[in-house]
Amino acid sequence: MGHEYDLSRIEKVAERLGLISNRSTDTTKQRQGRSDEVTPTGDGRLDSYPDPATWDDWTEYESSGEPREYSVVPTACFNCEAGCGLLTYIDTETGEIRKIEGNPEHPGSRGRNCAKGPATINQLNDPQRIEYPLERDGPRGSGQWRRVSWDEALDDIASEMREALEDDRGNEITYHVGRPGHEDYMDRVIDAWGVDGHNSHTNICSSGARCGYGLWHKYDRPSADFANAEFVLLLSAQLESGHYFNPHAQRIMEGMQEGGELAVMDPRLSNTAAMSDYWLPTQPGSEAAVLLAMANVILEEELYDREFVERWVNWRQFLDEEYPGRERTFESYIDILRNDLYGRYTLEYAESESGVDAAKIEKVGRKIGNAGSRYASHIWRSAASGNKGGWQVSRTLHFLSVLTGSVGTEGGTSPNAWHKFDPDLPNEPPRQKLWDELQLPTEYPFAHYEMSELLPYFLKEGRGKISVYFTRVFNPVYTYPDGFSWIEALTDEDKIGMHVALTPTWNETAYFADYVLPMGHSPERHDIQSQETHAGTWVTYRQPVLREYAEREGDDVDRTYEANPGEVWEEDEFWIDLSWRVDDDGDLGIREHFESPYRDGDGDEPAKMTIDEYYRYVFEQEEKLVELAEEADMTPLEYMKHYGAFEASENDYERHEEPLDESILEEDDVRVDEYGTIRRGEAPEYYSEMDGSDVLGVMVDGEPRRGFPTPTGKQQFYSKTIAEWGWDDQQYTLPNYIKSHVHPENIDYGDGEMVLVPTFRLPTQIHSRSSNSKYLEEISHNNPVWMHTQDADRLGVETGDLVRVETDIGYYVNEVWVTESIKPGIVAMSHHMGQWKVNREEADTDIEEGGDPYGKVTVDLNNEASQWGMRQTEGIQPFESSDSDSERVWWTDGGVAQNLTFPPHPDPVSGMHCWHQRVTVRPAEDDDYYGDIYVDTERSMEIYRKWLDEANPAPGPNGLRRPKWLKRPISPPTDPGEDDAWYVGGPVGRHERWEPDERTTVPDDGDAGTDGSRE
Ligand code: SF4
Repeated sequence: MGHEYDLSRIEKVAERLGLISNRSTDTTKQRQGRSDEVTPTGDGRLDSYPDPATWDDWTEYESSGEPREYSVVPTACFNCEAGCGLLTYIDTETGEIRKIEGNPEHPGSRGRNCAKGPATINQLNDPQRIEYPLERDGPRGSGQWRRVSWDEALDDIASEMREALEDDRGNEITYHVGRPGHEDYMDRVIDAWGVDGHNSHTNICSSGARCGYGLWHKYDRPSADFANAEFVLLLSAQLESGHYFNPHAQRIMEGMQEGGELAVMDPRLSNTAAMSDYWLPTQPGSEAAVLLAMANVILEEELYDREFVERWVNWRQFLDEEYPGRERTFESYIDILRNDLYGRYTLEYAESESGVDAAKIEKVGRKIGNAGSRYASHIWRSAASGNKGGWQVSRTLHFLSVLTGSVGTEGGTSPNAWHKFDPDLPNEPPRQKLWDELQLPTEYPFAHYEMSELLPYFLKEGRGKISVYFTRVFNPVYTYPDGFSWIEALTDEDKIGMHVALTPTWNETAYFADYVLPMGHSPERHDIQSQETHAGTWVTYRQPVLREYAEREGDDVDRTYEANPGEVWEEDEFWIDLSWRVDDDGDLGIREHFESPYRDGDGDEPAKMTIDEYYRYVFEQEEKLVELAEEADMTPLEYMKHYGAFEASENDYERHEEPLDESILEEDDVRVDEYGTIRRGEAPEYYSEMDGSDVLGVMVDGEPRRGFPTPTGKQQFYSKTIAEWGWDDQQYTLPNYIKSHVHPENIDYGDGEMVLVPTFRLPTQIHSRSSNSKYLEEISHNNPVWMHTQDADRLGVETGDLVRVETDIGYYVNEVWVTESIKPGIVAMSHHMGQWKVNREEADTDIEEGGDPYGKVTVDLNNEASQWGMRQTEGIQPFESSDSDSERVWWTDGGVAQNLTFPPHPDPVSGMHCWHQRVTVRPAEDDDYYGDIYVDTERSMEIYRKWLDEANPAPGPNGLRRPKWLKRPISPPTDPGEDDAWYVGGPVGRHERWEPDERTTVPDDGDAGTDGSRE
């Protein structure tokens, strides 16, 4: 059967020369057992993917015409948070993974990937990946290593952990994760240990946006229904790199193909802004002012959705608390919005703050109002994570969704939890009951979440120590601001007793570990993932594909490392084994949570849970999956191993409107309060003490409805919680505009100061995990300073010239790229690139640290007291390896590590590190070299303390550490009687409680304050 369309001339020639298979007479599809009606299709289309029925035994033709036999095994990508589906093609002749493409059965990514998905194969074939456990063999950070067995490593780590637990120092065990991948797996492990031991990267990423959304309705992320939207407003760059980039990008494009329009707010002409209908290049930090001017347009032109706002906003509470003298009517509320609160956000004011044309702001505001329930929006990082007060950006953005009634609608924006899977787990432990003040200190009661960026400063201040510190996909020395302070903390064994880096590849933080333990890449390990990519819920199964292939071939594989290269483990089995060794006699109550849910043990020795048993249990609890598996004549676990994903639900809209059974109102302990909130029992005196469990729903127009998980069950336009915690000012209690630390008032342009936007992502980079990828590094390998032509003229520099960019703690030297795609007065740099390895020529070791030579430059690192300097000594070079491509490396550039030169900027409310920097840019000096870095960490400490002084510490009402109803990871129980940890003075399980007054006095040296002013 040939094609029904004409081959191109080139294809015909190539076919005659035997360079490609004979497509005119190709019978490949018949060999796959697929019908001619299907492939190629009658309309001349080729299928993009093999039919899942053929995955176990798939033949594909080489360009030479040679057939190759494959076993096609699905897994999930781990190169960003989106969790797209992948198909690995395992060559049955060699048993090796030959290529990686998209999984069409994945409901989120639908077979498509960005460049980073297929580049997973580079990670697997990385010639310098770590294949065996290593222990340091000299001072920490000296570059001296020796090989150890897994048994030695596990026993040593388990013994340290057991000692800490028995000594009531359980909170000295910390698991610090950068990119999480498991749905609830580690929460379960940490709860089993009974410690508050979770730390994350959230507060250098999304705390600002989360806080703004969380104050509205507890849910801290948006789930936009882009495909069905009439108008989309993005404050991120989803078409190229933003959150859930590939799944989002395809749905935004679908919406646009159906006539939808796109507006993008970004000071930089991103690829997304370039594709938009309306680009709003805002002055960094002015976004909330623009959004409120749009709200003003919607209010003035009466484009708001009266029905939604009247039914679902806590406006009665707002009037009672803030305007008790005004009439308690909806009209009165709208009048206050228009005349008292938002009338001042005129188009002219928005234009003066943002530099965006008032007419464009008005037009976009009107478009949003007219789109009504089909208005969708998204923000992740960007303005919410760049600016002090950035949490008000997401809060004001959501205000537009509330005004237009597009919360939870088709074509609107839902809470993320409506579209995210929540698994039932085997042998679930009770929730841990401690509070770790190194993660969530009293100063930041609204932090979303752990104050991870401040960990080195807390350790330096003597707030506590860490006995066992696990880092996993977490590289703060490179990724975080002021990486040199991280090095200072990591090399001090009094502060961090044991550092265990769980990593498949070398990185700047692993260089300062005691153990480096190799964990599998995404196709070498198990976990499940689910993300809110659209108005439905999916689950994908990340599985070790060579293990699955071996099992398809009839081999028994007991443990995943048996199928992985070298001695590469996976985390799931690592945590089971480690926990078992920590409590090998079962006395600590940990081991029981790692016993098999299906098998009895042998005598006194219980059966240890296998990884198949864990996922079998999880999948068997999912009704929809059980049905799908039955239809396919498989078990749920077999179904997931074969297809790699399933769709748990679709078209989930307006869940707040779900009616409740009216009989609930008849129950003795149920009552309806003055705002219509249906509660069980008496509400506590303070909102902050409500955990949401007493709120059953809300009465709306006389009907009991599910509502939102807030103290009123409604959207919280007014935050009584914020008011209760000492921020009782409409600047904070309402969606409002807070001037950023980089507001023009704080920048001395006349003295050469500018605003640095250091946060944008490149579409082809994986945060700090790209430098072992030859595909990705060949595409992108530098991060020049974007500078507008006017600024370049003022400084007398051209593209390629070196500039010195001075921050408040040091400087870096980089090339400049002169462009009109950035606003004047602003410079920008991608946060990717600039990865480094230390020049170890002097190290006395048999085992060399790897350096991911496609993307890490070699540096000399110099340190004297608090002064640090870095100079690049060797760029990227061709090198010999098992991959002949490594000798063809043609680029030398690896970029510049700008984050090292940033001081910490913790937002006083959300705890978000505010990334934008006030900088001075000048032409490089004679002895400056490309990539030079200088930092003084003492300056960093001073700036940390100044920002800390702006925080408003706990205790809050009744001695609380944090409002109970707001989210927090691995939360201690909130039920009365179980909730001691929530109160200051409750169990911290660590060291003496640290008091804020113990801070050393900040020297008043007249340097920059946190508002950016120089005194
Ligand atoms: S968007 Fe790209 S990097 Fe992210 S999961 Fe999907 S394929 Fe992987």
